[in-house]
Amino acid sequence: MSSSSYQRRVTREVQVGHVGIGGAHPVRVQSMITSDTMDTEACIAQTLDLAAVKCEIVRITAPTVKDAANLEQIVKGLRARGCDVPIVADIHFKPEAALEAAKWVEKIRINPGNYADSKKFQILEYTDADYAGELERIRERFTPLVLLCKERGVAMRIGTNHGSLSDRIMNRYGDSPLGMVESALEFARIARDLDYHELVFSMKASNPKVMIEAYRLLAARLDALGPDWNYPLHLGVTEAGDGEDGRIKSAIGIGSLLCDGLGDTIRVSLTEDSVHEIPVAYAILQAAGCRITRTEYVACPSCGRTLFDLQETTARVKAATNHLKGVKIAIMGCIVNGPGEMADADFGYVGGAPGKVNLYVGKTAVKFNIPQIEAVDRLVDLIREHGKWVEPQIES
Ligand code: SF4
Repeated sequence: MSSSSYQRRVTREVQVGHVGIGGAHPVRVQSMITSDTMDTEACIAQTLDLAAVKCEIVRITAPTVKDAANLEQIVKGLRARGCDVPIVADIHFKPEAALEAAKWVEKIRINPGNYADSKKFQILEYTDADYAGELERIRERFTPLVLLCKERGVAMRIGTNHGSLSDRIMNRYGDSPLGMVESALEFARIARDLDYHELVFSMKASNPKVMIEAYRLLAARLDALGPDWNYPLHLGVTEAGDGEDGRIKSAIGIGSLLCDGLGDTIRVSLTEDSVHEIPVAYAILQAAGCRITRTEYVACPSCGRTLFDLQETTARVKAATNHLKGVKIAIMGCIVNGPGEMADADFGYVGGAPGKVNLYVGKTAVKFNIPQIEAVDRLVDLIREHGKWVEPQIES
């Protein structure tokens, strides 16, 4: 929308149980469990673990009608344990499973590449009549699900994956971001024809470049279609992998779009236990300035000018202040670049002379030449004086 200023894309609100996505809601964090859906207790335990680390929406696969039916027991078990996290049923290939799952959960995810479309991996020539015929067949298979979701107030994600586009889309648009977008729009048009609007879109790919392009293209297409196509977006880099690589890929893909102002809910997909995804999703939202959940630090890398041990000092400042949600603290090794580089920090801890520290409020130095040994305590005093201090909670 603008090349020079940040503005979050304005979206309509879609309700998923008690959790709103889009509108004025914060960007939601979600994940997916890995247990067999027929193992009720394992699904409940994994979902409780995710909810405990503040995952706001949990997805569970429903590959068959039998699995979909067992979602009833999983949801009942969760609610009986006081857990109200909304559950999403993940559907591939089986419209019948979707129809069963929609009876029990707050949201259904369908993949338009394989909903009622069996992939033959053949190159087929589609005439316009063939193409229209397939769309009509999809309309027949998709309509009952839309009507059931509409009746029960169940939300739906139309979740396109780069790796599973239908033969029809591949034939006409290729394995491309344009094909991904068109694949989702085919289903959205059917839903809208039935006056169902509880839709969220996603355009996932394992390659962040493809994923970023697809989401940007989708946002542009939705804008062009009109102001009532303002559906929320679910962001994710699928199959991002594990460890540092998975985290960096996710941060590039999700973070780039968040900085564009796109995205209303995110899922970081790691080849690790799902609970590990949630802190990465906190971290990405915080780094993109979308959702502040902890103390923010600006710290220089140190260099030959550094007047104290940056790593040791940063660790001490963090230990004293990392419970202050929403406060931004800069730790800079010297005054040459320090004050200028502190950006929009609320407080600054800056080397002033060997063994001496200056403290800042914003870009203004307010305390000078404090002996380094007491500087962290004086920083805490300063934060307290400015009404930004809260006592750390002692965990029992
Ligand atoms: S702020 Fe000072 S000490 Fe830190 S990297 Fe920059 S010049 Fe070096």
